[in-house]
This record gives sequence, C-alpha cells and structure tokens, in this order.
Amino acid sequence: MAQKKSSTCPTCMGKGVIEGVCETSPEWDGAANEQSDGGRICTPDDKCPTCKGTGKVEG
Ligand SMILES: [Zn+2]
Repeated sequence: MAQKKSSTCPTCMGKGVIEGVCETSPEWDGAANEQSDGGRICTPDDKCPTCKGTGKVEG
C-alpha cells in the first residue's frame, strides 16, 4: 500500500521559482547605488532549490 505521491512544493507554492523580492533600505547608499532606485534593491527570480524548478516534491 505504499503510495508515492507528490505534493506541491511549500517553498515556491508549486511555481518552481522563487520570485524576486524588492526591499527598501533607508541607508542603502554605496555599493549598488547605480542600480538602486531611491534605496530600493531587488533580487531576480530564482529557481526553487527545494523542488529544483518542478514545483512538486515527493512526499
Ligand atoms: Zn519549489
């Protein structure tokens, strides 16, 4: 009765990617000042390390 089923990855919620997030740092001036917009810095979308981009994990 061993049933292999996959479930939605909890890390990416089944999307397979970790969406980039934008953060605002009030004191962000220096390193990436050229790319920051008024102290805002964003990270790009990245493939989910938990499900490796499939959106499913074996449970
Ligand atoms: Zn995932």
